[in-house]
Amino acid sequence: MTLETESLTLLRDALAELEGGFDTLPEFKTEVDLEALRGVLMEVATRMKDNFPYPHPFYAGQMLKPPHPVARLAYALSIWINPNNHALDGGRASSAMEKEAVAEIAAMFGWKAHLGHLCSGGTMANLEALWVAGRLKPGKKIVASQQAHYTHQRISEVLGLPFQAVLCDSRARIDLTALEALLQTSEVGTVVATLGTTATGSVDPLPGILELQAKYGFRLHADAAYGGYFTLVDNLDSEARAAFDCLDRVDSLAIDPHKHGLQPYGCGCILFQDPAVGALYKHNSPYTYFSSAELHLGEISLECSRPGASAVALWATHRLFPLVRGGSFAAGLGKGRQAALTFFERLSADPRFMTAFPPQLDIVIWAPRGESASAISRLSREMFEAAAAENLHLAVVSFPASLLRAWWTDIDWDQETVTCLRSCLMKPEHLDWLDRIWQVLDGVASKVIHLTP
Ligand SMILES: *Cc1c(COP(=O)(O)O)cnc(C)c1O
Repeated sequence: MTLETESLTLLRDALAELEGGFDTLPEFKTEVDLEALRGVLMEVATRMKDNFPYPHPFYAGQMLKPPHPVARLAYALSIWINPNNHALDGGRASSAMEKEAVAEIAAMFGWKAHLGHLCSGGTMANLEALWVAGRLKPGKKIVASQQAHYTHQRISEVLGLPFQAVLCDSRARIDLTALEALLQTSEVGTVVATLGTTATGSVDPLPGILELQAKYGFRLHADAAYGGYFTLVDNLDSEARAAFDCLDRVDSLAIDPHKHGLQPYGCGCILFQDPAVGALYKHNSPYTYFSSAELHLGEISLECSRPGASAVALWATHRLFPLVRGGSFAAGLGKGRQAALTFFERLSADPRFMTAFPPQLDIVIWAPRGESASAISRLSREMFEAAAAENLHLAVVSFPASLLRAWWTDIDWDQETVTCLRSCLMKPEHLDWLDRIWQVLDGVASKVIHLTP
């Protein structure tokens, strides 16, 4: 694997340009001991070898996607100044860039008005959404599907709000009948719809949830941390398309630029449809600096200090890859989705493997064929290890029997969970590399799986 370093020369040029902004100041320079620095850096490089090869197409496991070079460079460029987007005094340019980048995300979902900002990730974005939800619906339940991210239950605990998980259908989406039964108790204040669950990439039926909202009147939050950007692709199934198409009708939305938005970690985004929720963040901190009447991002964020670099990197990425349908960013996401569809078809057609429901995004759930839940679980782990030994990196995931029972009717359900394999085909290159990935899997499968004729 070759790490991209060509673009590094641009960093020097850009730093020279940036430096020009401060040339009225008396000369001042930070001294470094290059020899000492070199020693430590080499030590770091050596330590960092102990990682799975996330940027390589043979990494087809967990949700890990390399940031684009433009994000990496813009991030690095900006930390020579190291702006803090807590307040305008801490970073004028990067705060403006944050507002622009966040507005571009809101526009991607067709929002006409918004209040929002970047944060450290999906957990923080969802925390802010549920905190606001709790302020507006005090004491009422937060509900999310059994396959929603576990963070919702934990956040509810932190906020002291009751939480209840809702049953899923056989495709890992929130079950509307079960949801309605819960809504009839009138204890529910907020429903979380997941557009792209973390385990399977399943898309909750948002049109149906909105119908229930018209009837029962709850606050609706969309957790699109993983899936949000898929609204731009042209190869969704009709149900997922319909769900993404009504994301302009939710009250709040979380999306993670550090998952599918080509950003380094530390970049989540929370959006509220009604800017008036900003009033809930009101505080009277004597520490907050006021340099102008303009809104400080720190006034509408639970986190205080935040990296301006994240905003700069995201802004730069949007310049190169505008968030539009039919653009090259959308094409890249669409390729990953196509890779998942093709991979799913190949697995389904091969008697050595078991699949369940087709992927709604770019995550494929599958397993080596076995006669019982315990055998499948054991084989999945063996396959995971054997593939890794051949440099092909998958991930394992555990599901409750209830989710897969409808699909795997002829196996012995001798335990309550089953371990499967999970492949997030997040990189556009996964499509081009699918034959080579399959070749390795084929070899590994012939060693691990022994079907009884
Ligand atoms: C990843 C994820 C989260 C948590 O986000 P972090 O960025 O890891 O904090 C929440 N919800 C969903 C659906 C996710 O995929």
